[in-house]
Amino acid sequence: MDRILTANKKIKKTNRSQIFNLLYKKDSLSKRDIQLQLGLSLPTVTQHLTDLLNEGLIFQNGYMRNTGGRNAITYSFKDDAKLAIGLDITRHHITAVVINLQGAVIAQLRIRYTFERTDTYLRRLGEVVNQIISENAIDISRVLGVGVGLPGLTNASYDRIVYGKILDIEDSTTEDYSRYIHFPVRIFNDANAACDIELYSTTNTKPNGFYIMLSNNVGGAIFINDSVYTGDDFRSGEIGHLNIHPGGLRCYCGQRGCVDPYCSATVLTAISDGNLNQFFELLEQGDQTAQSIWSAYLQHLALAIRNVRVLFDCPIIIGGYVGAYIDKYLDELKQILDTYNSFDKNSDYVVACKYKTESIAAGAALYFVKKFLSAI
Ligand SMILES: [Zn+2]
Repeated sequence: MDRILTANKKIKKTNRSQIFNLLYKKDSLSKRDIQLQLGLSLPTVTQHLTDLLNEGLIFQNGYMRNTGGRNAITYSFKDDAKLAIGLDITRHHITAVVINLQGAVIAQLRIRYTFERTDTYLRRLGEVVNQIISENAIDISRVLGVGVGLPGLTNASYDRIVYGKILDIEDSTTEDYSRYIHFPVRIFNDANAACDIELYSTTNTKPNGFYIMLSNNVGGAIFINDSVYTGDDFRSGEIGHLNIHPGGLRCYCGQRGCVDPYCSATVLTAISDGNLNQFFELLEQGDQTAQSIWSAYLQHLALAIRNVRVLFDCPIIIGGYVGAYIDKYLDELKQILDTYNSFDKNSDYVVACKYKTESIAAGAALYFVKKFLSAI
């Protein structure tokens, strides 16, 4: 008897999540559409729709003309039934975003505030969360949690930074970052978070990918079958330390010739007082120094991309600070890559990131959205 009850419960849960997922992917459907697409009985569909309506996860959207002449009520998924907040911590900025259940950024806040490993800084983090909530009149009962993207490697349980030389955050914990945040908090490696949101926005078509984060440091993340490949010790995808020039420039990791000293955004901003926008303005104006720095930069980047492509045979997404500008120069990059290709006929596997400055924060928030959706 118990076994039958358990089986019934399981079927009920499957039907509910099937209905929910269908509405999540489609704009608007009638009860009859749902019934036909899923092969469920009308009372079953009715019951689950009533439950989902009562829980505020879907809403009645309007009417659709049926082929039989009668108008049918349609149902839609409520994108903002729940929300998640993401933070991106860098040396000089804190970026905060609010994303909805589709992963879309609905609010964004970026402040200049220099990182320091102090209680004052952690208090400021809490204030930023409160600020984005109040400025956007967000109902706190809808907030699922706060994801924090950090330039460091986390442990397997995502609660401690095990390698964090960039900001000297080694051994900092979730407990630290959540000290002044009154929601569940989880910490993430910045590149993994950014890669996650990029692939989420193209799910179903591209389950694999390699994300290159070209910010003031170079990071990377590998996604295989919609999941991050972490490696045994959470150190995978660290393209910043791929050796492209043995004996070359010194990297902050202690080695020479890594990608990081050749492809970090600071290589470009060395001539524009740390301002990347200004660098690209100089480039557009035909400034010769900017042009020669840029063409050397693309050569190094192409070499790194080429090595990743032969290993992983998947799309390569160019993100980070430089990724936000790469659209315009993608053809130039592809032309260099074409000369390196061993198996590919062209270099269309390289794409520009969709999310620009907000990718890390949005990706960190995405964890809470995914967790919520998978529990429905
Ligand atoms: Zn290195």
